[in-house]
Amino acid sequence: MPSSGAVQPREPGPMVSVSTALCRVLNQVEAVGSEFVSLQESLGRIISSDVFAEAPFPPFRASTKDGYAVVAADGPGTYPVVGHVPAGHPADYVQTSGQATYITTGAPLPDGADAVVMVEDTIPEGDKVKINTTVSPGTDVRPIGSDLEAGALILERGRRLDAVELGMLATAGVSQVEVYRKPKITVLSTGDELCAPWDVPKYGQIRDSNHITLSRMAMAMGADSIGGTKIAPDNTVELQNELLSSLTDRDMLITSGGVSMGEHDLLPSLLQELGAELHTERVLMKPGKPFTFATVDRQDNSRVTLIFSLPGNPASALVTFLLFVVPALRKMQGRKPVRLPRIGVTIIEDLRRDPLRPEFHRVALTWDQGLHDGAGGYCAKSTGLQKSSRLMSMLDADALVEIPPGNGAVSKGSVLQAVDLRRL
Ligand code: AMP
Ligand code: MG
Repeated sequence: MPSSGAVQPREPGPMVSVSTALCRVLNQVEAVGSEFVSLQESLGRIISSDVFAEAPFPPFRASTKDGYAVVAADGPGTYPVVGHVPAGHPADYVQTSGQATYITTGAPLPDGADAVVMVEDTIPEGDKVKINTTVSPGTDVRPIGSDLEAGALILERGRRLDAVELGMLATAGVSQVEVYRKPKITVLSTGDELCAPWDVPKYGQIRDSNHITLSRMAMAMGADSIGGTKIAPDNTVELQNELLSSLTDRDMLITSGGVSMGEHDLLPSLLQELGAELHTERVLMKPGKPFTFATVDRQDNSRVTLIFSLPGNPASALVTFLLFVVPALRKMQGRKPVRLPRIGVTIIEDLRRDPLRPEFHRVALTWDQGLHDGAGGYCAKSTGLQKSSRLMSMLDADALVEIPPGNGAVSKGSVLQAVDLRRL
């Protein structure tokens, strides 16, 4: 029920590490169900059942060259050309020793023939052909099943369907694909100072950039973002009503703003009032310390709604989205692996440390062949000022370098771990 009384900001729970917070998130995530979509509509979806090859590929002995199908044992000599077999037009006769068939790449070898002599090794002579070379059985022929054996595993469930995966499904004749359904999410920006991107801000206002960034990033990862731009004010009743309407049937609610320590940061208290269980309220990280994660039973009681309350500053919102929401969206869609890969990168400038908190420094990656004694490696260039308000710091970010806490700086040339963001 919306509360009528004033909700006060609450004392946040204990600070936990990034890995503890992520484990708490993942412990609450269940995979959504599946549905069938057409091959054409399946791009970017996550396949929810293993796909096996029902038939071998190629399904017939296919020529790999333009040339002449022969019986290899015949050897060099001049032979009558008994037919033309372009791709898609199989022979309707059985070839015998002492004969040749003109054939093109991808055409089925006539029964009786066992090799192909490429056109460069032949000379046409009227209705005959002179074969200039010796071939062995199987030369320039793709045997049945040589690309894909019948029964072979083509795609394992949990795999994202990109263009090549679709090509494999097309090859195997899968026109209806079983995929995880799209998680239903709502993204809600909170703050009295926010106006829509298309409005002219009054003095003291700024445009809401979090809704479009977070919702579109989630959509690019397969989520269905329900509702347009939503801005809730820092006001108990309105905020609570917005939250309530999002919690009826959504798999996930992502809010931004209102989780820090100010008098108007009401979200954690409101979530608690709504019966949500707060699992994490502060994380030892920079940026993103006030990241809050909660769950609430859905009104249909079928499952819980995951609630991610991200800090309002755009870089903080995005970093916490990448570290916590992205793995949750992956797990929810059955995607494997759930976590984003970590890679080792060489920093090309000194990077200051925070004395207490690990910092996730946004970097652009380039390949440097000179690194590691010529073996090559990625070098990481800072995206500039890392202020949590500066969305520009995310613009060219290929990775988040984790700078361990400590005094002074990590020196240029050090190898650090980074979360690779290039394939969410
Ligand atoms: P908060 O987390 O609500 O204390 O907000 C922290 C900072 O982020 C403030 O300067 C807000 O104006 C800014 N901010 C909050 N929400 C948004 C948003 N949706 N888009 C852009 N900036 C925001
Ligand atoms: Mg605020």
